[in-house]
Amino acid sequence: MPLKPLIDADTIADRVADLGRAITHDFLGKDLVIVAVLKGSYVFAADLARHIDLDVAVEFLGVRSYGDQQESSGVVQITTDLSTSIEGKHVILVEDIVDTGLTISYLHENLATRQPASLKIASLLHKPARTRVPVDIDYLGFTVDDVFIVGYGLDYAQKFRNLPYLAVVTDEDA
Ligand code: 5GP
Repeated sequence: MPLKPLIDADTIADRVADLGRAITHDFLGKDLVIVAVLKGSYVFAADLARHIDLDVAVEFLGVRSYGDQQESSGVVQITTDLSTSIEGKHVILVEDIVDTGLTISYLHENLATRQPASLKIASLLHKPARTRVPVDIDYLGFTVDDVFIVGYGLDYAQKFRNLPYLAVVTDEDA
């Protein structure tokens, strides 16, 4: 599968450190829970958490999105739920990529019903060209074009999550 490098590891690390600093600043003195959406955000969430200089709890949300490999249907099922209540807590939902916006808006709505003190969104990537539901991303890594991205947690058929940088899957044979 031909890959073209898109964003290198140092650039990602610098940007994730910036986001961690911004979150630290915004949540000083508060009880923070970061909720990593599995599987794609596991690398981003792990790096981001290490740049947040606060007491932070980490939770995971397993989701299954119905649709084919490269297209979200917006029908999302929670396969692994949070292990604890988020009522009264300050929560950041951590995604790998906001594409159509269907997944994150469903999850945001779902978590909002659990009465957190506040609920923000952090996403490593955003593909605005494909927006179907506009989403306010409070902490965004990079805006990208309408291309299929792998690496740094993002997969193609479960492969490439362990690439330390972001790359684009191309159709070229060479
Ligand atoms: P949305 O519901 O916003 O359309 O899609 C969100 C999910 O689709 C992401 O969490 C991710 O799992 C998947 N997705 C969307 N675009 C890409 C992409 O370019 N690469 C990969 N690997 N997954 C993507």
